[in-house]
Amino acid sequence: MRLRNIPHAASTIQGHQAVIKRPEDQKGCWKNVFGNDNPIYIEIGMGKGRFLMNMAKRFPNVNFIGVERYSSVLLRALEKYDTEEFEGLNNVRFICMDARELTNVFRKGEIDRIYLNFSDPWPKARHAKRRLTSKEFLDIYDQILAEDGRLEFKTDNTALFDFSLEQIEESNWKILQFTYDLHNQEDMNEGNVMTEYEEKFSSKGNQIHKLIAYR
Ligand code: SAH
Repeated sequence: MRLRNIPHAASTIQGHQAVIKRPEDQKGCWKNVFGNDNPIYIEIGMGKGRFLMNMAKRFPNVNFIGVERYSSVLLRALEKYDTEEFEGLNNVRFICMDARELTNVFRKGEIDRIYLNFSDPWPKARHAKRRLTSKEFLDIYDQILAEDGRLEFKTDNTALFDFSLEQIEESNWKILQFTYDLHNQEDMNEGNVMTEYEEKFSSKGNQIHKLIAYR
């Protein structure tokens, strides 16, 4: 997702209390950011943030961090966060960064769950390493995720989903569960929180795929 350049996005983000401005300074200290010992779940590429904020509302005893590369997109999430719907939601923070840098920001074991929702497909083979479920990224997640942590991935892109299943296997991660049709798979769909892209693509008739992986 890339929105048209929004003037002042960077300065608005810098001034927002839910945005962690120098996330690398918090490495190893994320519990202090939230002021409690609750588990920390992150969404990488959270876009406009509906999933992240609705999850945070539903699970007040979990801390959520949204990671987004583009300031123009993060700005949209912050606008939503500032509405009445999410007033008083104090278990959410945002970081504007590239997922490539995650190991500079989180220490081993600091993250309990990683969500990837409708990640960019990068369809050209020569761009495979940029896919957020590539072996290269799984190695990064391995360095921040708790031993019993898990990765949850949703997409409507079958080629990307199949690629992800292969990469997970090749990286010696394990698949706990997967489905090509989440919305018609009762037990995996229970409690499902929809993302913006999920709404959009499922209303077009696309099937939503989901996998849960662990090591
Ligand atoms: N998760 C949202 C948005 C999906 S679009 C939803 O399901 O509705 C994918 C998002 O991931 C985009 O906003 C894009 O900017 C972000 N993204 C892609 N690569 C990224 C990376 N390397 N680091 C951080 N964010 C990334």
